[in-house]
Amino acid sequence: MSLLHAERQLLPATETVLGEGMRIRRALPTRLRRMVGPWTFMDHFGPADVAHGDGMRVAPHPHIGLQTVTWLHRGEILHRDSLGSLQTIRPGQLNLMTSGRGISHSEESPLQRSPELHGLQFWIALPDESRAVEAAFDHYPSLPVIERDDLRISVLVGEMLGEVSPARLYSPALGLDMEATQGIATSLPLRPDFEYAALVSEGEAEFDGETLAPGSLLYLGGGRESLAIRTSGAARLTLIGGEPFETPVLMWWNFVARTQDELSTAVREWNAGQGDYGEVHGYDGARLKAPTPPWDKAD
Ligand code: MN
Repeated sequence: MSLLHAERQLLPATETVLGEGMRIRRALPTRLRRMVGPWTFMDHFGPADVAHGDGMRVAPHPHIGLQTVTWLHRGEILHRDSLGSLQTIRPGQLNLMTSGRGISHSEESPLQRSPELHGLQFWIALPDESRAVEAAFDHYPSLPVIERDDLRISVLVGEMLGEVSPARLYSPALGLDMEATQGIATSLPLRPDFEYAALVSEGEAEFDGETLAPGSLLYLGGGRESLAIRTSGAARLTLIGGEPFETPVLMWWNFVARTQDELSTAVREWNAGQGDYGEVHGYDGARLKAPTPPWDKAD
């Protein structure tokens, strides 16, 4: 049975704080929509002045059931994880971390850095059969780029116009970054079996005639063969999509699972230093403590 919805939804992002004080916009999940395909989380951070102060500081924390996708418009982030990875990411590059059944990581602005940080982090839920895969971290120093009607398209994950991202995925999905340096008008072929959503990080754009600016996610639904995109000036756009995720996911804090029991176990094990989360070395600060889920609170 198809879970595709043809209707569009303009979904306001939630303003929240990431790590130690960086204000961000969370476009997924929102009250009105939890997922777009396997995409279950979408943070837009910055543009933030990181020339003064500590910049981004997100202390060691765990994940299960997902892949994290990090993509920068400007600036740098230093990633450390429990596999021993130590990797600075810069614009044009992709960090893809696969939690499998457990990993932990930290993210921080490196000491030597550009004055501004601006970017996106997404989570992709792992399908049932891949939730227990080995944890992995992949850094892709460059990605396929398509020039189409003056729109510069980077294929972060999936395939567009014959260009395939090397990023390893466990379910069919698409993630595109699109940069216009002037007004553009183009259209992209879409897969009718995917549902899609668009985000604007800078400037303004029209998707099939619907105007979108930073601060909202435009859910585009499924059953589409193409998408018309238009800007009147410079803009930075993201398109995500994928097959509607058939399994309902439950999320608590940094965990993606299927049942409250799994989430409770993850919280308990992380806080007790147990489980498959390993240890992050080199971060200057204590690891984060998982908050108790409401269903485990005594009343
Ligand atoms: Mn994380």
